Amino acid sequence: MTIWDPQHEAIDREPLEELQLARLRDMLSRVYERVPFYRSRLDACGFTPGDLAGLDDLARLPFTEKSDFRDNYPYGMFAVPLDEVVEIHSSSGTTGKAVVGGYTRADLETWAELVCRIAVAAGAGRGDIAQVAFGYGMFTGGFGLHYGLQKAGVAVVPISAGNTARQIKVMQDFGTTILIATPSYSLYIGDVINKRGVEPGSLKLRLGMFGAETCSEEMRAQIEARLPITATDNYGLTELIGPGVAGECECRSGMHISEDHFIAECLDPATGEPVPDGEIGELVITALTRECSPVLRYRTRDLTSITREPCACGRTTARMGKVVGRTDDMFIISGVNVFPSHVESVLFQIKGVEPFYQIVLDRSPGGLDTFEVQVEVTDGLFDGWMDDLRAFERRVTEELRSALLVRPRVRLVEPGTLERSEGKARRVIDRRPA
Ligand SMILES: [Zn+2]
Repeated sequence: MTIWDPQHEAIDREPLEELQLARLRDMLSRVYERVPFYRSRLDACGFTPGDLAGLDDLARLPFTEKSDFRDNYPYGMFAVPLDEVVEIHSSSGTTGKAVVGGYTRADLETWAELVCRIAVAAGAGRGDIAQVAFGYGMFTGGFGLHYGLQKAGVAVVPISAGNTARQIKVMQDFGTTILIATPSYSLYIGDVINKRGVEPGSLKLRLGMFGAETCSEEMRAQIEARLPITATDNYGLTELIGPGVAGECECRSGMHISEDHFIAECLDPATGEPVPDGEIGELVITALTRECSPVLRYRTRDLTSITREPCACGRTTARMGKVVGRTDDMFIISGVNVFPSHVESVLFQIKGVEPFYQIVLDRSPGGLDTFEVQVEVTDGLFDGWMDDLRAFERRVTEELRSALLVRPRVRLVEPGTLERSEGKARRVIDRRPA
């Protein structure tokens, strides 16, 4: 198991914290000088960069929220003049204004370096051929993986997302060894490969690097059942740099955070107080080293846990667990909090259910919330026996009810009827009036 940058990935805690403190000090003075948004936030809590005495002081500093990026759209969060910027990315911005992040020449080099670390940690290297089926464009996933994989010595095929028939042809013809995509698109590609009778063993695929959406262990198992790969997870956000914040090593027991560039906190989302290692909280990240778009205590809304236990791979950096949900995609039905990822975990363990589902929330004419789970069943499971179908539907309903503590209406649908995703899957359709 190779470590790309042992000096930083296998650093002892004490020198790491010294480095973090020095970088935090530098970052605070940069944003205080150059970003009016941060200056006014720091002034409002009576903190000047010179007050920083230790990493513990981080807890005194204000949070940055997604809405702050929107309020300062497009360039208000930039810490360098525009003529130093060489690349600009943004989130999809489906609701309101998008999040915009800029990169100087040095930022692009940092980005490539950080993605290279996670690519090497996942087992990629010279001789590999990576098919990047992330969308290229404003989305950070495509370019981020592109730069990092090249740095690791991998040959990159920038096919972008979509056109699944062509994805499979390129995979066969080019001898692709690594697939880069969202988990939901990988699942879809795997499904099409199986339906077309392509023998998975005839492919040279061996590794998957998935990101941009949460991937439960059950989802990972479903992907690995369809494609001849070891599936690895990685983490990043446009607000922070894109991919490259954290990634799994070959032990696959959490994603190593590049702590020399990012300070990670795990906090109770209601109180903002830290939760103990191993417990679920909201991930809050400070991006220390970006020249153009440094970020102070960004509330990611992602719920996960952090561990600082040593990892068998030799890296010493903290690891974050799988993202179990997002504070903003949790929905409330009959007073019960439900995460789509929890619904997914339950469904994917039921034999006869295919890993394609959708959650539809609505309100009845009487004003009650309705919660429907539509899920595909395996082809040929019933052969027209309605009694069997109803019994199976009741079983799925009961499994969900006992796990979620709220009863959904389950609707079984034919294989292939639910929308397939080439990027991030849309799991929840909420038709309830605001
Ligand atoms: Zn490790």
